Amino acid sequence: MRNVLFVLSGPSGVGKGTIAKKLIERNNIALSISCTTRLPRNGEIDGKDYFFISKRQFVDKIKKNGFLEYSEHFGNFYGTPKDFVENHLADKDVLLEIDVDGGLNVKKNFTDAILIMIVPPTLNDIKKRLESRNTESDENIKLRMERIDYELGKKSEYDYVIVNDDLSDAVSEIEKILKKEKAKKGE
Ligand code: 5GP
Repeated sequence: MRNVLFVLSGPSGVGKGTIAKKLIERNNIALSISCTTRLPRNGEIDGKDYFFISKRQFVDKIKKNGFLEYSEHFGNFYGTPKDFVENHLADKDVLLEIDVDGGLNVKKNFTDAILIMIVPPTLNDIKKRLESRNTESDENIKLRMERIDYELGKKSEYDYVIVNDDLSDAVSEIEKILKKEKAKKGE
């Protein structure tokens, strides 16, 4: 069965990170490491958390068509390096954990990518979680909710939508999807 590139997206707070961790523990999957022009934070390691590169190197890589997708956040560039993904696909499935816009951009460059969106059982769950953190202002919660609405609005452009009601169910569902997609691509 051929290896596949798959993207996990979904609103923040939906549990993507935990799902990704479980998938990697249980399967032969590599997590893609992005390039960024921002400086490493305390404890971050080059080549593990990100590939930390200069703006000049980033622009050079854009010109050489070296990213599957990239975007700017808070004045820094972030991108998914094509070479890293392609090298790992030789012997593993590759997982990208990126936002919905990033996922849709990946699909444009890599049409075989499988886009999976993780959604909460109800919108209220996420809202409650945001409010109970007590760290966000009302305005911030409103902005985050608008972002969630925006991301969920792109659901129909994704290949699969998984409701994260129960962690192990969500992980098994994704494993089934991978098995099916790998078989489809088969030798
Ligand atoms: P941070 O600086 O906090 O690590 O990340 C800032 C933002 O960059 C987050 O929203 C994160 O999802 C986004 N990001 C990280 N890597 C990539 C990437 O490869 N592509 C895109 N489009 N965004 C990324």
